[in-house]
Order: sequence, then structure tokens, then C-alpha cells
Amino acid sequence: MPPMDIEISAIEDGINEFDFLAKPEELDLQLEDTVFAEDVSVELRITRSSDTLTLTARCVTRADRTCARCLCTFKDGVDSEFYEVAELDGEKLRLLDDQYDGDPGFLNRAPGIFVIDPLVREAVLVSSPMKPVCREDCRGLCPQCGADRNEQECNCEESHGHNVWDALKDLAQNEKD
Ligand SMILES: [Zn+2]
Ligand SMILES: [Zn+2]
Repeated sequence: MPPMDIEISAIEDGINEFDFLAKPEELDLQLEDTVFAEDVSVELRITRSSDTLTLTARCVTRADRTCARCLCTFKDGVDSEFYEVAELDGEKLRLLDDQYDGDPGFLNRAPGIFVIDPLVREAVLVSSPMKPVCREDCRGLCPQCGADRNEQECNCEESHGHNVWDALKDLAQNEKD
């Protein structure tokens, strides 16, 4: 059985706990500027009350990210959670979540079995920054000479400022035209 399949009949009333390890490729974890380098560890708790299931999970992994400023690769921890309520509908499980943009009945892989892969995937991706930076004060590469300004000063600093100013003026000019 794939690692994150859960048999509905095995879920008892009350608290059920599961631990999973999923490979990034099994979850189709793909993101620009990021390589998910380790298996995703998932701690899932399902609280069942009759046909209502509350799912809470913590998803932990590590990522190698590319800094948007200096282009170095750096290691980043991922620690993300999700919370969903779902309802049993015969052999299916249906998410009660207006915000979820996937198929809320997706949890069914085979009769009597559901998967949490899409929820884990979403939780991990949502917690990833749009523009990762290796550290808050990363000074990035000089756009003129390409020098890593974390490591060395270059002499382009002033003209760089000037160019940004020119670019703004051009923009203002274009808007007037
Ligand atoms: Zn950087
Ligand atoms: Zn420079």
C-alpha cells in the first residue's frame, strides 16, 4: 500500500494517530528555486466522531533553496501544519472546506481508502516563500558586475543607484505618454 493510504474501516471513534514518511517525488513537490531534499515526515491525528473526521497534521522536511538575491543554495527547514474537517459519505470521504480549490471528494483512492497526499502537498508548498532569501540582510549580486556583495565591495554601487532612479523616471515618462 502506498505510504499515506488510510483505511476508513481502521479509524475508530476518538483519536487515531498516524506517522508517515513520504518521498517528495511521490507528493509531486516541485517548486522553482527549491529542491525538497528529504522525505516529508507527517504526523497525522484523526479525531472521529461518528461520520465526522477532524484531521490535523504536522508536515516536516528540509529544502535546498536558491537565494533570490545572491543565487547561493541554502538549507531551509519546512514545518507546516494543516487542519481539515471531513465527512464520511458511504465509502467516500468529503472535505468540508469551501476554501479548498481541489476536488473536495479527492480523498478516495479506492473504495474504503483515502489519501492525504494533496493536503500534505499543499501545506508544504504554501509554507514555501515566493522569493527565498538566504538571510534577511543578504546584499545579493551586483546587477552591473555580478560580484557577490556579501563577500566583496565593488565600485558600481553609485551608478547602480543612479540606474534605478533613471528607470523610475523612464517609467513615469512612459505613463505620461
Ligand atoms: Zn543570498
Ligand atoms: Zn558591481
